[in-house]
Amino acid sequence: MPLKDEETKELLISMTLSEFTEHFESFATFIEEAWEQKDLEILLAIIFDCEDFIHINGHQFKCYSQTAKEWKDEYRKNREKRREIANGTCEWCGRKKGTHCHHLIRRGRLVLYNDIRLLRILCSKCHQLFHS
Ligand SMILES: [Zn+2]
Ligand SMILES: [Zn+2]
Repeated sequence: MPLKDEETKELLISMTLSEFTEHFESFATFIEEAWEQKDLEILLAIIFDCEDFIHINGHQFKCYSQTAKEWKDEYRKNREKRREIANGTCEWCGRKKGTHCHHLIRRGRLVLYNDIRLLRILCSKCHQLFHS
């Protein structure tokens, strides 16, 4: 029998940090795999699910929250690391020069969005694929 909305909410709110982290790690792995396969449809589906998951559950864990400055510093640091991984090229097509750093998961005031696994260096053309 499907859970009623209230019961679902209760379950989600009672999620512990370690359960949350475990779920998030699975999402990160799925995203990496879908990226490797270059399957945009599956990738976007996982991204939407992950976005919902973080949106519903992430905010209760204060350790994931940051001030705007801390958020920016973390972003800059991880963007540079991601650029090193990308080695100057677009991570989707591998050909063109990658100049944009894209957040796979919609931006919010959670350090999680700046996880290096959720950032990608993209050329302008490929960047559009993720904003349409
Ligand atoms: Zn590209
Ligand atoms: Zn973007």
